[in-house]
Amino acid sequence: MSTHFINNRRVPGTTGETIPVIDPSDGQVFAQLARGNATDIASAVRAARAAADGGAWSRLAPVERGRLLRKLSDAILAHHDELAMLELRDCGKPVKQAKADATACARYFEYYAGACDKLHGETIPYTPGFAVMTVYEPHGVTGHIIPWNYPMQIFGRSVGGALAAGNACVVKPAEDACLSLLRIAEIAADCGFPEGALNIVTGYGHEAGQALADAAGIDHISFTGSARVGTIIAQSAAKRHVPVTLELGGKSPQIVFADANLDEALPVIVNAIIQNTGQTCSAGSRLLIEASAYERVLSLLAPRFTSLTAGPASMDLDVGPLIRQSQLDRVNGFLSEAQQTKLRIIAQGSVSAEAPSTGFYAKPTLIADVPASASLARDEVFGPVLAAMSFKDEVEAIALANGTEYGLVAGVWTENGGRALRMAKAVKAGQVFINNYGAGGGVELPFGGVKSSGYGREKGFEALYGFSVMKTVVVRHD
Ligand code: NAP
Ligand code: MG
Repeated sequence: MSTHFINNRRVPGTTGETIPVIDPSDGQVFAQLARGNATDIASAVRAARAAADGGAWSRLAPVERGRLLRKLSDAILAHHDELAMLELRDCGKPVKQAKADATACARYFEYYAGACDKLHGETIPYTPGFAVMTVYEPHGVTGHIIPWNYPMQIFGRSVGGALAAGNACVVKPAEDACLSLLRIAEIAADCGFPEGALNIVTGYGHEAGQALADAAGIDHISFTGSARVGTIIAQSAAKRHVPVTLELGGKSPQIVFADANLDEALPVIVNAIIQNTGQTCSAGSRLLIEASAYERVLSLLAPRFTSLTAGPASMDLDVGPLIRQSQLDRVNGFLSEAQQTKLRIIAQGSVSAEAPSTGFYAKPTLIADVPASASLARDEVFGPVLAAMSFKDEVEAIALANGTEYGLVAGVWTENGGRALRMAKAVKAGQVFINNYGAGGGVELPFGGVKSSGYGREKGFEALYGFSVMKTVVVRHD
């Protein structure tokens, strides 16, 4: 697989250098990727430009674009298990998670297939003798920088929306998560996507990724990843006045009032932090509990955490390995700090005896009494670690919920309807879930952040406006 995918063909990198692909379940190298650079990015951008500027892709009627996207959705489903197994090995995703991601990727293309011919503008009443209309046009060539935690899902969400709006795409996946996307690009070519509509360059973020952010010929950048790199991307894009969508990190609160239905809440709360081994931007990683229910909720959660097991992706346990050694070191660093600062570790799951010692396994952990000032309460762990704290009333719940630099998602658990609505209004986040929580769920639901969680929206119909430019046409006809 050590090739890029440009103009519907696998092409070797210009330098011939490669990057090892590691299986997180056992830490072993099992493949190589092309180490892309600015020259490779330039050739992908040229291919996309030709497709977008009068090429076959740009000449397709929206209904035909939609049919191609639908064909790709069906083809992804036809290759569902193959794609899931690629991601299982590449990213250490347990079987159920890997399969859910392949299904979600197909669903994005299905959703956006139906949207291609429905992105229409308006007419505007104006001075007599004039007709005014607005039209949505594609940016042209969009760049997509994808993280490693949900490669297929985020590819579907970002590239699906951009293609639907009529853009040609250049994609730089994370170096830890390229295999499924290279295969999907091949499948798209087999479906009949015109040359240059979808191009993938693999490589390191600071090389191929930076080259994409800097490339002349890119008209819009969709970046999903860390807040730190988001800043770099926005600065690069600003030099050429290129618009950017930033889907960044989160420290999302799950807020539990004493009147909550705990039978419903508890399994969702646990899942919101262990899903994808905690490596989810919208993970519910802070648990805010009303003081009068605090100890009760913790004691009910404790056995649920103790029973969790981490193991190789193929065993399909509660959690898999983390993506790489440095991520395991990061998670263990938070756990060591919790021990050193004598935080209350309520419960900890285990690592399967069958897990290879060379894999990257962390124990799912519930930690209580975490001060709002602690790094565990402020920073993304990106692992299966839930930080709990108590609040005395709604005012304090809102202050804690909004007390980090992030604002991506929030969950509120209460049987009081008025309070649910007050909380939904007061919490600063891009999505608020009342009596449910959807980390990543629902392709129809516009998604994105406020504050350091980013700006712009992907998912849902809303994403299409971001992937388009509105043009106002004023016709004088008197
Ligand atoms: P990251 O380090 O920011 O990397 C994200 C992507 O950017 C990767 O493809 C990476 O490539 C690339 N990159 C790194 N440095 C770059 C540079 N200087 N110029 C251009 N591209 C560069 O994030 P990550 O560790 O992969 O992902 C985890 C983060 O993503 C978390 O903060 C998480 O919350 C966030 N995330 C957000 C969402 C959302 O929708 N809001 C969804 C998923 C993840 P390499 O990996 O090859 O270096
Ligand atoms: Mg890998």
